[in-house]
Amino acid sequence: MSVVTKFNIDHTAIASPSGGSQLVTFVIEETNDRWPVISRLVSIRGAVDLAETFFSDEEIRTAEWLRLISTFEQGYPQPKMDWPLKQSSRELLCAKCVTYKQIAPMRVAKEPHMGKKSFMSLIWENEIFCTPEVFRGLEEIQAKGYEEWDVLIHKTGQISEKVRQLFIPAIAGLGVLVEDDLNRTTCPTCGTTKYYPHVKGAMRIKREALIPDTDFLLTNEWFGHGLLAWREILISSRIAKLILDKKWSGVRFKVVDVV
Ligand SMILES: [Zn+2]
Repeated sequence: MSVVTKFNIDHTAIASPSGGSQLVTFVIEETNDRWPVISRLVSIRGAVDLAETFFSDEEIRTAEWLRLISTFEQGYPQPKMDWPLKQSSRELLCAKCVTYKQIAPMRVAKEPHMGKKSFMSLIWENEIFCTPEVFRGLEEIQAKGYEEWDVLIHKTGQISEKVRQLFIPAIAGLGVLVEDDLNRTTCPTCGTTKYYPHVKGAMRIKREALIPDTDFLLTNEWFGHGLLAWREILISSRIAKLILDKKWSGVRFKVVDVV
């Protein structure tokens, strides 16, 4: 019996892109009475233990820049079988570490069921999709630095009516100040460093890395491991406030310290 079943812990299980194994994740508060036992099991079995930080609305509203993080994943990018190696939406910068440039619309298996959510992403990737209402809100405040891209239903090639991609063209300069204890891998083929997900505390970024006069940026740095690779999404304070004010869901924020 797995630990999560035994202790009756809410969890998600996702198959890895290469198949064969499952990534089981769960969130537990350090104040939970099961935490001491689980914490021991995590260390005995060498499981990855990621401390996560949640920021208050006040911290979010007063931060100059934030990371935008999807909390609503709906299905896999298509064609799923060849992900991420053979994709019309991506030009790979390196076939080994799968860093990429998006060159065409993303494809999904079917129209997503958004329910009350305004944002979504797909499993394995970090591109962000939103409802038409979000794009209207962005237009109203004259947000800068994003493009509205079609999302295609894979089998038919039809354009999704439920969501469009919030495409972010601008990439910040190098400037994320990564903590020494954040694991990383350097690609033997191209030399690109990929960092493990940054989950502890605020991400620090040098001001000189930020491009002025925009509300959206991608980090220059890559994150992920194996066949996962993404750049973090950075948004300005006014975008975070808009999302909070409108009570749009499907994303959360993490404070970025500009230094
Ligand atoms: Zn590489």
